[in-house]
Amino acid sequence: MYLYNSATHKKEEFKTHTPGRVEMYTCGPTVYHFAHIGNLRSYIMEDVLEKFLRYSGYDVNRVMNITDVGHLSSDADTGEDKMLKGARREHKTVMEIAQFYTDAFFSDCEKLHIKRPDVVQPATGCIDEYINIVSRLLEKEYAYVSGGNVYFDTSKLQRYYVFNDHDEEDLAVGVREGVEEDTNKRNKNDFVLWFTKSKFEDQALKWDSPWGVGYPGWHIECSGISMKYNGEYLDLHCGGVDNAFPHHTNEIAQSESYLGHPWCAHWFHVAHLNTSSGKMSKSKGEFLTVSLLEEKGYDPLAYRYFCLQSHYRKALVFTYENLDNAVAAYNKLVARIAALTPGGEIEQAAFDAAKEKFMQAMGNDLNTSMGITAIFDVLKLKTNDATKLALIADFDRVLSLDFIAKAEAKREELKKAQTAKTEGGYTVTGEGDPAIDALVMQRYEAKKAKNFAEADRIRDELKAQGIEIIDTKDGASWKRV
Ligand SMILES: [Zn+2]
Repeated sequence: MYLYNSATHKKEEFKTHTPGRVEMYTCGPTVYHFAHIGNLRSYIMEDVLEKFLRYSGYDVNRVMNITDVGHLSSDADTGEDKMLKGARREHKTVMEIAQFYTDAFFSDCEKLHIKRPDVVQPATGCIDEYINIVSRLLEKEYAYVSGGNVYFDTSKLQRYYVFNDHDEEDLAVGVREGVEEDTNKRNKNDFVLWFTKSKFEDQALKWDSPWGVGYPGWHIECSGISMKYNGEYLDLHCGGVDNAFPHHTNEIAQSESYLGHPWCAHWFHVAHLNTSSGKMSKSKGEFLTVSLLEEKGYDPLAYRYFCLQSHYRKALVFTYENLDNAVAAYNKLVARIAALTPGGEIEQAAFDAAKEKFMQAMGNDLNTSMGITAIFDVLKLKTNDATKLALIADFDRVLSLDFIAKAEAKREELKKAQTAKTEGGYTVTGEGDPAIDALVMQRYEAKKAKNFAEADRIRDELKAQGIEIIDTKDGASWKRV
């Protein structure tokens, strides 16, 4: 597969340290609030990437952290602690907040068909790992203690800004207006590895360390967790583009200084989801969550479809009009799949040729919109319906848009509508069996002719078949019970 690598700024052939095996790491959520659908765009695209790697035959070990400590409002270690802020807002403890929003995050993921990573590790569970890395960095003189905190010394590196093809906006985090400068730092880009001098008196989570009681910085958790579960060589690191700097830049700095060799070969960054007035955020405009979309009557999978229609490296603009267009396109596609007739032999040559095209589209820097186009192409193929359905089911192992089950439900719905039978103003609707519709109609005719014995006989006959008749305002409907 060919994939754009943010570290080398080019599309390159994806290779792994151990052939056939992908060590994959994803920056997880900071669990102080609900995720907005912009955050979830990254997780959707990373999910497709993981599933495509598996589909291509790789064995994938995917690890994700849950940030439940140490992430300050500014990614550059200043501002308020996000978890404390959430706990204060809701009059709960930090751990209660963490548990609640971790569950909320995975519930959103489930609705969006985002697979749970193989390993999910809360940051608070790996304190020993961070202490070990920080100690080693101090020994190697990549770190220093100042004002009670341990900092990484970026001046010791030969190369720091590895992702500098990103927006100036992303690079400006540390100097954002209203964020005070930390005077303990030797260099502007130095970052905290371990806090002991917390300016938050009510900082709930603290641990003993060689540098005093305190808590880890945000960046160190991803290096610690990844090295624990992925080993020393990471093949693929994912995240939203706003994580590239300073978070991922700092992860590379500390990991490679600690290990003494290159750490992660491939960096995958998903572009922002914007609103028409700019970058989506929790505090600006409508707080767009999966639950809000559901309340408004949207199927979460229609949002997934909306994301997959665009390339992950392009900023995507969310408006309800754009989402409505995606809903219409998705429903139309489901309806076309529902029109196919299941059953029969698969034509292997046609199957293989179409699959190859899908592999090529997705293998070209995860071109998901071409992946969806591949489904439309399948519908136009000169092959039988069994082959088409098998192909769609196969591609959906990666796209996870539930095409087969939704088409099946649609087919059932259509069948019910098609077997409605009306005579003399009396309408029988049922679950798609004209023979039963006819019997229910005969029962009605018998009753009308006051032939109650015959009417009862038919009712008993239907009952024996497990059919229940329900009177409706225009006639009757039946169902299997
Ligand atoms: Zn991270």
